[in-house]
This record gives sequence, structure tokens and C-alpha cells, in this order.
Amino acid sequence: STDIGKYVYMVALLDRNEDLFYRFVMDNLDEMMPIIYTPTVGKGCQEFGHIFRRPRGLYVSRKNRGRVSEMLKNWPYDDVRIVVVTDGERILGLGDLGANGMGIPIGKLSLYTACAGIYPTQCMPVMLDCGTDNQELLDDPLYIGIQEPRLRGVEYDALIAEFMSAVQEKYPKACIQLEDFGNTNAFRILEAYRESACLFDDDIQGTAGVALAGFYSALNLTGDRLSDHKFLFLGAGEAGIGIGSLIVTGLMAEGLSEADARKKCWYVDSKGLVVSSRTGLAEHKLPFAHDHAPIQGLLEAVETLQPTAIIGVSGKPSTFTRPVVEAMARLNMRPIIFALSNPTSMAECTAEEAYTWTDGRAIFASGSPFDPVTYKGQTFLPGQGNNAYIFPGVGLGVVAAEAVRVTDEMFFVAAKTLAAQVTPEDYAQGRIFPELSRIREVSIAIAVDVAEVAFRRGLTDFERPADLVKHITSQMYDPAYKTYV
Ligand code: NAD
Repeated sequence: STDIGKYVYMVALLDRNEDLFYRFVMDNLDEMMPIIYTPTVGKGCQEFGHIFRRPRGLYVSRKNRGRVSEMLKNWPYDDVRIVVVTDGERILGLGDLGANGMGIPIGKLSLYTACAGIYPTQCMPVMLDCGTDNQELLDDPLYIGIQEPRLRGVEYDALIAEFMSAVQEKYPKACIQLEDFGNTNAFRILEAYRESACLFDDDIQGTAGVALAGFYSALNLTGDRLSDHKFLFLGAGEAGIGIGSLIVTGLMAEGLSEADARKKCWYVDSKGLVVSSRTGLAEHKLPFAHDHAPIQGLLEAVETLQPTAIIGVSGKPSTFTRPVVEAMARLNMRPIIFALSNPTSMAECTAEEAYTWTDGRAIFASGSPFDPVTYKGQTFLPGQGNNAYIFPGVGLGVVAAEAVRVTDEMFFVAAKTLAAQVTPEDYAQGRIFPELSRIREVSIAIAVDVAEVAFRRGLTDFERPADLVKHITSQMYDPAYKTYV
């Protein structure tokens, strides 16, 4: 009768009867997605040690250093194609959940299977248990992870390096998805391995793909171009900088120079507007630190910069206050308001607030789902700008093409393809993403275009099949008992 109860039930079903789990999830995606993924998976992670049934993934701890390759040999499947790995330091917007963060790789991989048909045996969830700085977990006798402060510095980097080479050695065709690492490590690991491994960071690149798709859809409602917009982010972490960087790619595709494109993206973080005069800025923020007088709060930044879109990726709830949203409505005919922080309790504003405070004119998307909102007789179906629209399709394309790298171009193409899947009926209901029930079809379309990038850019030795759609769909898992007849 509770969401967490349903989560426990579904995880138990996954352990007991994978086919039935996936059939049920796929046939009831709208209802099941919020249970097996955000927001309930967040609660599932917070409670992980208390509701723990079976491991369902590979736990590599700091104590296993020197033996990671040996451990990987114990994984029972030989053809792993997607590895989702976390160290649990920044789980959704919930912070450091240590080894309890394993709920996220398990959840993400179940979406790879449900939404893009990657075989369950080709998926490997991994927890790199580096300890935790969460005192509550350190004190909890039921915590499943190592009860020591987090590993940092060279020893941490050595564990990551050992893990990367062990995966490449045992599963040379695998694509590694980095998931919910703390932001200093996420940017560093991505930069360190993106040129030498088939790897991407979903919080940086997947989020960027789904957000850019949302903007492309929004352009169908505003009737203009990406370059007519100005983007103001609340939060300059993995999600914010990732989205900004892909927007820059989109703006450059419209003919802007990189410098001009960057000037369209502005950031407010916990210390105010990100400007060049600020000292001690983290490296990932520097490309977006513009020359401007310092500004403290979001409202002042909105009034001064007059953005057409605000994007909430701060993990801080209720920060899109009424004055902020009303200012957006005064400045724009169709204000774009994306409250992307997860889970629902962390959203910068609710769907209802966005629609009522803008007199129904907002183009709204959130990270976690919101119920439909009826305002002045009109019912709005808020779009869920969730990465689940992007990463399964990208992964399927990479796997099907046997691509050796995952590039930003693939996410750019995926964003365009996703936006092209939105129908006039979706727009009429305020939806800027396709219906979830169409996700498999959407993932196939994304996979085809991503695979084309791999073939076009020479990122694979695999010969392009004459019928790419058939090649991709023929590899997809379809849960049915007849599989075993
Ligand atoms: P992060 O830790 O890398 O970045 C958070 C940023 O927010 C930092 O720049 C921090 O300075 C800033 N911040 C913190 N408090 C603030 C405040 N009061 N005012 C302004 N800025 C503040 O985290 P992240 O990976 O970028 O994720 C941020 C949020 O976005 C999380 O809640 C996450 O769940 C969500 N997210 C959603 C999606 C999605 O649904 N598509 C994808 C990825 C991340």
C-alpha cells in the first residue's frame, strides 16, 4: 500500500522472475517508473540496508584493491555490454548514501532492459564502496557498506583505474555509465577516461541530452530558435554544466561562435552568480564565468539578465519562488521553467506552482513526475525531463554498433531525435516529451541515430548492417515465456 512497499515487492519480483518483472514494468511503465526509479528509488536507497534482500550487483570495495580483476571473473555472465557504476557519493539530490547507492545502478539497468531491450544478462550494476562521510550511515548497525570515511586522493584514483582496466579486460565490448559520483570526481573521471574507454557520465551527458531535447520541443511552442534564448541555471554542478555544454553545441550548430554560445548560459550557484571576478571557482565552472558584476540571489539574476529559461539543478527545493516565477512570466510570453532536481521533494518548484504563477503560460518540465494540473479549466500534463528518455537509447545504439567511444555528438543527436518524437497531441496537452508508453519506439529511434554517428565517425570496426533498424530490434529482449519454449 506504500510506494516503498511496492518498491520492495518489485525488487523481490525481479529476483524471483525476471521475465515477469519486465513484462509487468513494460506494460505499466507510467505507474511503475516512479516506483522502480525516481522518486521511490531514492527512498529505496535511503532504506537500502534495512530492506536488503539480495545483492543483485557487484560490490567492489576499497579493501579489494589489487584484486578487482579477479573479482570481476566471478560475475556469472560473459557478455556484459552495459556497466552502471557509482560510488554512492551523490545519490539523486540526496547526497552521500555510500553503498546504499547500489539501488541506482540496479534501477538504471532495469530501465535499460525495460526501455531499450538490453538483455538483463548483459547488464552489470557495480558499487565501488569507498566508504561514506554520512554520519548516520557510519552509526547504523544495518548499513551494508564499509563503515569508514571516504577514500580520497591517489588511493581513490588507483581504485578507479584498476576498475576501468579490469572491465576493459573482461568485457571489451562493454559501455560504462558513470552514475551519481560526487561532482569533483565525476568531471575528473569523465575527462580521464572518455578518450580511452567506452564511457559516459549520465548526470553530465545524459541529463544534457534530455534537457536539450526539452528545449528543442519548447521551440515548437515559442516558434523561434535556440539562439533566441538565454538560459539561467540554478546550480552549476554535473547536471547544470553538462546541459550548458550541450546547449553550446546546439547553438554552434545554429552558427554561433563558441564564445557567443557560452554567453547565452548563465549560472547561479550557492555563492551567487558565477562571474569571472569570483576567486576559487571550480574548474568546470570556468568556461561559463562571464564578465559581470556579482549578483547574490536568483531573483536579482532573473531581473538583471532577463533569461527566457530557468533550469533548476541545485538539489535545493522551493528555490523557484513565486517572485522568481512571476518575474519569468512578466519577462516572457512562454517562460521555460525546468525544475529538474530529484527526487520530487527536491524540485525547485512544483508543476502546479509553475502553471498557476505564470497564468498557465509556463513550458514546464521536472526531473521526477508530477500529477496533471488543472488550471482555469485547462489540464496540463507536466513533462518529466528524465534521463530515462536518453540513456537507454544511447546505450542500445552504442551496443548495437559496437562503438568504442561515447561522444557528445551522440547526445546531441539523441536530443534532436527525442524532440522529433513529440507529437502535436503531446504539445496540445503541454507535454514536451513523448508519452512514456512509447519509450521503446523512442529508444530505437535514438539508437539508430547514435549508431549512425558511430559508423560515420569511424568509432567501430563493426560493419554497418544494410538494415540498421532490423539489426537493432533483432537484438532486443522481449520478456515472454515463449522465449524458453
Ligand atoms: P552537483 O552536486 O554536481 O551540483 C549541485 C549544484 O547546485 C552545485 O553547483 C551547487 O553549488 C549548487 N547549489 C547548491 N545549493 C544551492 C543553492 N541554495 N542555490 C544555488 N545553487 C546551489 O549535483 P548535480 O549532479 O548537478 O545534480 C543536481 C540536481 O539535479 C540533483 O537533485 C539531481 O537529482 C538533479 N538531476 C536531475 C536529472 C534529471 O532528472 N534529468 C539529472 C541529473 C541530475
